[in-house]
Amino acid sequence: MNMIKQPVKPAAERAPSYYSASLNFETDYPTLQGSVTVDVAIIGGGFTGIATAVELAERGLKVAVVETNKVGWGASGRNGGQVTGSLSGDEAMRKQMRNTLGDEVDDFIWHLRWRGHEIIKNRVAKYGIDCDLKHGHLHAAMKPSHMDELKASFEEALRRGMGDEVTLLDAAGVRAHLGSELYCGAIRNTRNMHLHPLNLCIGEARAAESLGALIFEHSEVLEIVHGKRPAVVTTGGRIEAKQVLLAGDVYHKLERRKLKGLIFPAMGGIVTTAPLGELAKEINPQDLAVYDCRFVLDYYRLTADGRLLFGGGCNYSGRDSRDIAGELRPCIERTFPQLKGVQIDFQWSCAMGIVMNRIPQLGKLSSNVWYCQGYSGHGIATTHIMGEIMAKAITGDLEQYDTFAACKHIKVPLGDQLGNPMLAAGMWYYQMLEKMR
Ligand SMILES: Cc1cc2nc3c(=O)[nH]c(=O)nc-3n(C[C@H](O)[C@H](O)[C@H](O)COP(=O)(O)OP(=O)(O)OC[C@H]3O[C@@H](n4cnc5c(N)ncnc54)[C@H](O)[C@@H]3O)c2cc1C
Repeated sequence: MNMIKQPVKPAAERAPSYYSASLNFETDYPTLQGSVTVDVAIIGGGFTGIATAVELAERGLKVAVVETNKVGWGASGRNGGQVTGSLSGDEAMRKQMRNTLGDEVDDFIWHLRWRGHEIIKNRVAKYGIDCDLKHGHLHAAMKPSHMDELKASFEEALRRGMGDEVTLLDAAGVRAHLGSELYCGAIRNTRNMHLHPLNLCIGEARAAESLGALIFEHSEVLEIVHGKRPAVVTTGGRIEAKQVLLAGDVYHKLERRKLKGLIFPAMGGIVTTAPLGELAKEINPQDLAVYDCRFVLDYYRLTADGRLLFGGGCNYSGRDSRDIAGELRPCIERTFPQLKGVQIDFQWSCAMGIVMNRIPQLGKLSSNVWYCQGYSGHGIATTHIMGEIMAKAITGDLEQYDTFAACKHIKVPLGDQLGNPMLAAGMWYYQMLEKMR
């Protein structure tokens, strides 16, 4: 059995992941019982719900978060831990937001894409959250056409004054950073970060709690009651609020009339090896998070105790893929042949919410009931950006909210039946295009 720093017993319902096995603190919030009154009731205890709760509590509002399972149970506590500067649907955003922002659109997107990093860094420092936060990414090219994209990103970063934080590497440059022969180049970006997402999410929940927020676990919201005084209803309780935020991403089935057909589950898989000892320094001496340029990509990094945490592929059928280790071992060994036969200690999968055009979706279900969802695999920074935007909107500053809410989204008819097959077909198409580039 490998030793893990400060082992804390995870709750039974947490997926048996590296993250749950290396928790700093397990939550034990009560189940909602009886009647509670607050300013804002938030449905969902992932990054969207918790980050918005912190923002609102910092602004002096009384907040309650209601979670079906445990804080961080969903994608927020099971992801790759890479805090990237992508808002996922950047290109689609640029096209649509030009209608509302005109020539300011490029500046708007550029500044927003780094806002999540600032929020996370400041929050970690302010509340003393121990989540293994580190800087440094490699965005790696596997063929010359990828290099063209990277060069364009690099040049934009230089134009925007990020020259101290980005370096363009050729194949030899990558080999000086990684014990892998797989790549023909990369951008090294020291503004991007990586971290232990479950410890961050729980740390933020505790920060919200310290500011007076109420948090309820094992409390599934079964209904949102709309009206002058909206409410969320669970089996045992009810929260009345001035405003409600639905932040359940792809895991809820509420408000189907308005939300059906907008967001679809894709299953992502991740494995974590046994601690690698000296080999960890050989394969990744600068402790960088790495992701490649493909449409369906591999992404990996080292954990604080020197394991390789490796994610890749994605199942767009919406069904779970069972043999994650069997799928990802060949990808690990192709990247790092020196890890052939390495022991895999943890494997898990989780659903992420995919939006057809990849623009995060936020809007209103009625005058005082809001929703915010759909980060298409780029949610750590983006949930924190959206948390700030939603908190501003709920407290009356609608400027950024309106820019996102004006974006148009494809609503797939018969979404629950047809959405995933359409998504799978779309992904196949893009992967074919990718192969031809
Ligand atoms: C395998 C994988 C790898 C990823 N890697 C990265 C990465 O490296 N970098 C990155 O930026 N992003 C990554 N992502 C995406 C990122 O994790 C998500 O976009 C983000 O965590 C979504 O946060 P959320 O709070 O909106 O949703 P979630 O974290 O899924 O939380 C939603 C919560 O709502 C609760 N809920 C749902 N319905 C109800 C209800 N009716 N009542 C009460 N509670 C309810 C659920 O139980 C759940 O806990 C990854 C995702 C996956 C799955």
